[in-house]
Amino acid sequence: MARRVDYEVTPALLKAWEAGARQWWALMDSGFNAPNYDGCRKYGENHLCEFYNGCHILAANETKFDTLYQRKR
Ligand code: SF4
Repeated sequence: MARRVDYEVTPALLKAWEAGARQWWALMDSGFNAPNYDGCRKYGENHLCEFYNGCHILAANETKFDTLYQRKR
């Protein structure tokens, strides 16, 4: 689901976005890999994140993901 939200991108907003993005990119570069529970039910109970069961039933243990998901090759 995508929702359009119009707003003016000011230089200050763009700078704030870049600062936040650079923090996430630095964490990703360092190997940080943790759940972001803000997104699990972001669009309601009928539109759960595709990895909901992996995170909430399998405790994000990727070694068990093959029991629920099929890896795309
Ligand atoms: S279910 Fe897992 S992957 Fe999906 S938003 Fe929640 S924490 Fe992130």
